[in-house]
Amino acid sequence: MKQLGHFINGQHVAGQSGRFVDVMNPALGEVQARVALASGAELDAAVAAAAAAQPAWGATNPQRRARVMMEFVRLLNRDMDKLAEALSAEHGKTIPDARGDVQRGLEVIEFCIGAPHLLKGEFTDSAGPGIDMYSMRQPLGVVAGITPFNFPAMIPMWKMGPALACGNAFILKPSERDPSVPLMLAELLKEAGLPDGILQVVNGDKEAVDAILDNPTIQAIGFVGSTPIAEYIYGRGCSNGKRVQCFGGAKNHMIIMPDADMDQAADALVGAGYGAAGERCMAISVAVPVGDETADRLIEKLVPRIEKLKVGPYTSGNDVDYGPLVTAQARERVLGLIDSGVEQGAKLVMDGRGFTLQGYESGYFVGPTLFDKVTTDMEIYKQEIFGPVLSTVRAQTYEEALGYAMDHEYGNGTAIFTRDGDTARDFAARVNVGMIGINVPIPVPLAYHTFGGWKKSGFGDLNQHGTDAFRFYTRTKTVTSRWPSGLKEGGEFHFKQMD
Ligand code: NAD
Repeated sequence: MKQLGHFINGQHVAGQSGRFVDVMNPALGEVQARVALASGAELDAAVAAAAAAQPAWGATNPQRRARVMMEFVRLLNRDMDKLAEALSAEHGKTIPDARGDVQRGLEVIEFCIGAPHLLKGEFTDSAGPGIDMYSMRQPLGVVAGITPFNFPAMIPMWKMGPALACGNAFILKPSERDPSVPLMLAELLKEAGLPDGILQVVNGDKEAVDAILDNPTIQAIGFVGSTPIAEYIYGRGCSNGKRVQCFGGAKNHMIIMPDADMDQAADALVGAGYGAAGERCMAISVAVPVGDETADRLIEKLVPRIEKLKVGPYTSGNDVDYGPLVTAQARERVLGLIDSGVEQGAKLVMDGRGFTLQGYESGYFVGPTLFDKVTTDMEIYKQEIFGPVLSTVRAQTYEEALGYAMDHEYGNGTAIFTRDGDTARDFAARVNVGMIGINVPIPVPLAYHTFGGWKKSGFGDLNQHGTDAFRFYTRTKTVTSRWPSGLKEGGEFHFKQMD
């Protein structure tokens, strides 16, 4: 049985705690490895070593740090296939989707190559007589990231790239469900020239997370995961005096206006609702057609598209649209929610519960599921399902549709499909959600913009990647300087005569 440990001080080390958790192959429903779960003491030791290594890295000029990032980009491209394969094997997503996972992280590393420019402070010449004022952005020291299972390459890179480029040492606590890729990223960063101890990958569960929250050396924590854990980490981390940003769950609505191109909207919904088995925080899980005629036309267009979806293991290459859910528990939870939708009176248009695949009977697959006539009191509407389940909530007016997106407790992403610029503009201006798509179903901002949700999808200030990340991982020091008259006035420039 393959054993995965930690990556500390530039090398793989075995876990000391004696605690492990199984890493599954979700397509087969079989254990493929065991990953060590760090004790609090192991976490604290990794932090102490990081703290010893950080001052030299922080004092390295930003251009040299950027060159490590540049080389890291080259190595990520070199190993793209290997990374995608390892990612799919543990997560279950298709190979093209796994490559996208790596690619979207890689793009943030490319952005971090601009660190010398991004870290420049401000300067005011002659703020007073002979007085100059300037600011510097300095690294925080040791910072940490706690990341979810659903993007095991992208989200660790969103966190570690800016943190390292700013001159911090970084403790990564990845998801215990798919730990291989984060360990591979650490190896590549070492190969790219990152000094030992600057990136420590510590695998673990709540015990390691609590040690991060309570370790006084750790200055900042970036978390991505489910909302209950985000709230917990935000509360405990902040009360320990740390800078904390936490990104949580989602329930993303897509509004379809009567004037929308219905083929385009249906294509978009199928990709955004079922891609990656719905295990994306930017997945569309609620379709809100405006008017019954729009709803009927939409369902009519959706059904044949959904029927054509191919569900299978990543090893089938480009022939599959999505793979299994990540664990047996995730599958049970999604099936339970589908049952609840039926019991609470939603119309089940397509039922994915009975899905089986020859040779993969023990895999965690769920077929694509479509509900119509969902109402806001149902569990399938209130909860983030995180599975291949799309719910349709019918609205009679634009205002009613807007209200659904506004009133839901989550506010990660939302989209509107329309041909009317005025409606789209009104929607973007008024909706209380962090990321908006106009005829774009999954509006994930690119690396040089920032990513973050509102309401129960995001806690704390500043978003992920883009310029916000460089603010999050640095603190500002402002210097006011006045130099008294120097040599140039009243100085004597000739040899003194000796009496
Ligand atoms: P999760 O909350 O179960 O786990 C996230 C991290 O927290 C993992 O590293 C895990 O080990 C740790 N953790 C889990 N339980 C803990 C506990 N009791 N105490 C301390 N730490 C704990 O999330 P997940 O299932 O890995 O990821 C899916 C969730 O992440 C979904 O809700 C999804 O919407 C969300 N997500 C959000 C974004 C975003 O940017 N908003 C992006 C991706 C995923």
